[in-house]
Amino acid sequence: MSQKHTPDLSLIKRIADDVGTPFYLYDESVIDDHARRLSEAFSWNPGFREYFAVKATPNPYVIDIMTRRGCGVDCASRTELMLAKAMGLRGERIMFSSNQTPGCEYRLARELDATINLDDISHIDFLRENGGIPKRLCLRYNPGSTQVASNFVMGHPQDSKFGMTRAQIHECVKRLIDLGVEKFGLHAFLISNCVDTDYYPQIASLLFGLALEIYRETGAIVDFINLSGGIGVAYHPEEREADIGEVGRAVRRDYERLIKDTPLHPMKVYTELGRWMTAESGMLVSKVIHKKDTYKNYIGLDATACDLIRPAMYSAYHHITVAGKADLPCDHIYDVVGSLCENNDKFAVDRRLPNIDVGDYIVIHDAGAHCRAMGYNYNGKLRCGEVLFRPDGSYKLIRRHETPRDYFATLDYPGLV
Ligand SMILES: *Cc1c(COP(=O)(O)O)cnc(C)c1O
Repeated sequence: MSQKHTPDLSLIKRIADDVGTPFYLYDESVIDDHARRLSEAFSWNPGFREYFAVKATPNPYVIDIMTRRGCGVDCASRTELMLAKAMGLRGERIMFSSNQTPGCEYRLARELDATINLDDISHIDFLRENGGIPKRLCLRYNPGSTQVASNFVMGHPQDSKFGMTRAQIHECVKRLIDLGVEKFGLHAFLISNCVDTDYYPQIASLLFGLALEIYRETGAIVDFINLSGGIGVAYHPEEREADIGEVGRAVRRDYERLIKDTPLHPMKVYTELGRWMTAESGMLVSKVIHKKDTYKNYIGLDATACDLIRPAMYSAYHHITVAGKADLPCDHIYDVVGSLCENNDKFAVDRRLPNIDVGDYIVIHDAGAHCRAMGYNYNGKLRCGEVLFRPDGSYKLIRRHETPRDYFATLDYPGLV
């Protein structure tokens, strides 16, 4: 399986008969291939590490494929830290991205000796009281309306709730040196799902420049820069992909130009990719249970926006194919919808597809990141499980489907399961 590749109908039927539809299907070889390509692209930097953003695909069986390749994890909540801990990760294998963080989360992050990425200067005192200031700390930079590059639109960082101003970063470094911090990291995350090869190099030169400025002002050594997430995938078959090899080469050129001949060399480069690592590996497989023709032609699935909210939430495009019909002409136009009492519960609107029958299996592509993880339970709908397809052709249910018992677990009321 690869991007937009529809698995054989026989395989889909076999898994569907075994575990029931809908289900997420992840291809281990695609995840492993992304992890390998990323580490190759940055192999020029001996300290390079990817910290997979757990929120994208919070399943330890999936994350394990990447940690076997040396990746760490990027966590931002208590349960994400618990997941990392259960996987045996600690210390420099965990990045903890703070942002309006509760005290208990800082304390757990400190217990695991995670590298904390501090979102605000006011959190210095908060962290002192909740776990204490570590020797190594990362600071999150928000460049505001600073022109990053003349030809590159980076969204509007000044409207983002994340990170600190340049003046605050300098102030933080000075205070933290006094509090015993010995190693600093710098982090910035300015745009999401960006397939432009320029994005990482722009962030890198921004952070390299800031690191040099900090060194000149305070003598502090920035040990690593964290380019964070944001590299996108081609959801639409006609979109082009980010060329990860070229991204690595371009960051290297900036490193050699700005850092190599300074006392800051050797500096480590980190990434925290979520989407780029797992999006293309996953698909949501759902069965057609109804067809309805009124003012439009509807295909009714047994999956809902509770399983995959991106189209409903962001009008996001997810490519759709029909198992066993991938080569047929797309000569019908359908809305592909779920059963929620919400008119935005649509996986596709006016989509050209082959003729679809009740009983067909619909494959919704590029659903490996930020999809199952964003699921919810509106209308009492139960979220579907996850299946891992392995390189030897076998598969394993790595998360079961939810049951009414899960849905009612937080209620204590007679007569409920
Ligand atoms: C969400 C997030 C990521 C991953 O983002 P992608 O767009 O999935 O690459 C990385 N770092 C932080 C701090 C995040 O919040």
